[in-house]
Amino acid sequence: MKFIQKTLPVGAFQCNCQILVCPETFETVLVDPGDEADQILKSLTQLEADFKIKLKVKALFHTHAHFDHIGGSRGVKQGLLQNGLGVVPEIYLHREDLFIYQMLKPAGQRFGFSYEDPLPVDQFFEDEQLLKFGSLRFKVIHTPGHSPGGVCFNLHEDHAAGIPEIVFTGDTLFKQSIGRTDLWGANSDQLFASIRNRLLTLDGDTVAWPGHGPMTRIGEEKRSNPFLS
Ligand SMILES: [Zn+2]
Ligand SMILES: [Zn+2]
Repeated sequence: MKFIQKTLPVGAFQCNCQILVCPETFETVLVDPGDEADQILKSLTQLEADFKIKLKVKALFHTHAHFDHIGGSRGVKQGLLQNGLGVVPEIYLHREDLFIYQMLKPAGQRFGFSYEDPLPVDQFFEDEQLLKFGSLRFKVIHTPGHSPGGVCFNLHEDHAAGIPEIVFTGDTLFKQSIGRTDLWGANSDQLFASIRNRLLTLDGDTVAWPGHGPMTRIGEEKRSNPFLS
């Protein structure tokens, strides 16, 4: 069965917050709740009404720790706690981005935004780690370059039903562009290696959802991304 996906661009940088719901258990994973926690919480409530279900938000995944990808996590987690859902989402991040996560306040200030300190990270991603929430099955792909602890998530769907896989590429790979490498701990050689060796090796039909902007497909980027030719 196809899972429920809602893409919600949030904040000044329009980070793509992804809401992913298992259609059987209603276990829910959020990718990059970067800003506008109230909007994200509203979307969750709306999904519950639309599908007449009760969501169990289990995890807040972060592709990396730049403030536009983590800035809403505290508000989302606290909001869910206050709703008394009985399920407390865990905050996931790769350990090598922890130093960026912990400087949310000063990093935000540098760009003119004010944040409270982030909540503690509950779980650290490992490369190649498999994570399962109901029928949602993710594989973690460590893709350093844009930041040291950048990760992508390959969401396996039902191939038998002809549904392509999805990869959430954060700020590593965009439609017709790639991530910037002028911020904390970035490295352009690493970025190219991550894209070539870990993302372009995926099936060409794989749908790629970047951290900003429209979706694309791995095959399309392999053929025509001007930064990769
Ligand atoms: Zn970023
Ligand atoms: Zn970003």
